[in-house]
Order: sequence, then C-alpha cells, then structure tokens
Amino acid sequence: MNPIDLRSDTVTQPTPEMIKAMSQAPLGDDVYGDDPTVNRLEAMAAEKLGKEASLLVPTGTMGNLIAVLTHTKPGQEMILEEKSHIFLYEVASVARIAGVQTRPLCGPRGQMNLECIEEAIRPDNIHFPETGLIALENTHNMYGGAVLPLEYMKKVFALAQSRNLPVHLDGARIFNAATALKRDVREIAQYTDSVMFCLSKGLGAPVGSMLVGSQTFINTARKHRKMLGGGMRQAGVLAACGLVALEHMVERLHEDHDNARFLAEELLKTGHFITQPESVKTNIVNAVLDSEKNNAFDLLEKMAQNGVLANARSRRHFRFVTHKDVSRDQIMEAVAIFNHILR
Ligand SMILES: *Cc1c(COP(=O)(O)O)cnc(C)c1O
Repeated sequence: MNPIDLRSDTVTQPTPEMIKAMSQAPLGDDVYGDDPTVNRLEAMAAEKLGKEASLLVPTGTMGNLIAVLTHTKPGQEMILEEKSHIFLYEVASVARIAGVQTRPLCGPRGQMNLECIEEAIRPDNIHFPETGLIALENTHNMYGGAVLPLEYMKKVFALAQSRNLPVHLDGARIFNAATALKRDVREIAQYTDSVMFCLSKGLGAPVGSMLVGSQTFINTARKHRKMLGGGMRQAGVLAACGLVALEHMVERLHEDHDNARFLAEELLKTGHFITQPESVKTNIVNAVLDSEKNNAFDLLEKMAQNGVLANARSRRHFRFVTHKDVSRDQIMEAVAIFNHILR
C-alpha cells in the first residue's frame, strides 16, 4: 500500500499523460539549443510569466543560484528574508559559489519591512560591500505557504528600481500563490526581474524548474547553467512533462489548498495540535503540538508505521504539504490515525 505522503509536494509522481508525453517528445541536444521540446517549454514558461525568455534547470536550488550568479558580482551583498529557502536550505551556495554575502532581514509571513530593506541597502562607503540584489519568496515555505500581497511586491520592486537593484523571486510555488490570489501569475512576475519556479512540486513533473527573465539575463544564465554542470542533452524527456504540468496541472492546485485548510481544521479539532486554519492560504500546514509530553519525532515514527509520512522541524513543529497524490479521504484517514496514536 502506498503511504499517505504529506512530507512535500516534491513527492508527486508523474501523471500517465506525462509518461506518454515523455515517450513521444521530439528530442535534440539542448546544449546545442536544438531540443524542440525544451525550446517549446522555455517559450511557454516565458509567455506564461510575461517575461522575454526562460531556461530549464535541473532543480530550483540551481535556478536560484544561477539567478544570484547572473544578477550579482562576487563580493556584493544580497538582501533576503531570514527564513527564506535560499538562506536556510541551499547549503550556502550563494556565499560559496557566487561569492555573495547574505543580508538576512526578519520578515513575518515573508514580508521584510520596507524601511528595513531601505536601511539595509548599502550607501557608498569605502568600508561597505555593494548591495547587488533583493530576493523575495512567494509562496513562503517556512511561513506555511504564505502568499505575498501584490501590493507588497509592487512596493519592494519600486524601491529596488529606485536604487537600481534587481529583484529575484524564489517562486518555487508561484502558481500556488497565483491560485490563492485568484490572479494571473504574470501579475506577480511583473514586480520582479527574474523568477524561479518548480515544475517538480505541486505541478507534478518528475524533475525540473524554470528560470525566467529578460533575454539578456537568460543568455548569461544559460552560460552559468553550463558552468554548474546543468547543461542537459535530450532534456526534452523532462520538458515534455513540464509542458503537461503548465498546460494541465495549474487548474487543480486549488484542490490542494482546500485540502490543506481542511487538514488544519481537522488537526485543530483533535485537541492535540495548534494550527491556524484561517491563515492556510495554499498547500502547506504548520502544526504545533500543544503539549510537551508528545515529541514530534516519536510521533512521526509511529505515523510512518501506520502509513502516514510527514516532516517535523523541531520536537513540536510539524509541516504537512498537500498535493495531487493525496486525496481528501486520505487526509481524513491521516487525521484518524493521529487521533488513534495520540489517544
Ligand atoms: C523546493 C524549494 C526550492 C528548491 O527546489 P529544489 O528543486 O528542491 O532544489 C527553492 N525554494 C523554495 C521556496 C522551495 O520550496
């Protein structure tokens, strides 16, 4: 029996339509630029986000690093949120490989205070590094899939432009954000210079992320992708899945959001968890155990024995992610198992 896997939306399996698309995709060598399926995906991603060009990259982590490499020079500083994926979960690649110093600012629900950003932008001074980039994250992973308001993104972008700074968006789940806002994804992307988004999460593709931006940006990014070893050959087998993801998997994301909200409500009802169902806007649920006597890691083990997988961030903090391979019924089943174990 397959487990009910709430660890991440990265665990989603390719759909039958994707498998079929992979087997039928026309292929070429993408390093020579002649894989027609990759070219079609890159054109579609750029068009959907309202940017000039895009680039297929193996992972979101590589996409973010390429964006930083492309926007900055070694020795510069980038401003980012202190619970952002780039700062916490990308093995310090921007420091080690791009040679960029991070300037993390606290930002509840992903929103760094505008005045704090403004203060953090370095003035001209012989002692200081130059600020080279501002990065945002939408939806914000650590803040439980929080969505940045368009108005906020607009203000950050205006500030950045007034200081001649680029804005990169870690939009791993930008389509979840657009779904929650009931807006076209372009409306989010318009307040950025570049966006990375994942095909491999809620959109269900097995592998792949896209980096989008201006044509000049993508030309340089392509070179950086090669440098990092991310120039893939008959990558059309992956791009074929990405095309299915963009054409058919975006429309259903609201189901994951409804399921996440439902899960938060049901967990709250058990009396063992503190959740905030009204703040669950997308597909991530943060849940805190309400008593010291239970330990999240022990509980996870017992849940796994009963066929339910999730992640814990500390002894009290769980993270659940909903996606296409977990149904409403399975969520009810998972809650029943929690109830059983905690009784
Ligand atoms: C998953 C994720 C990434 C990186 O994706 P990988 O493809 O796993 O490298 C980047 N940013 C955020 C916010 C993510 O959730």
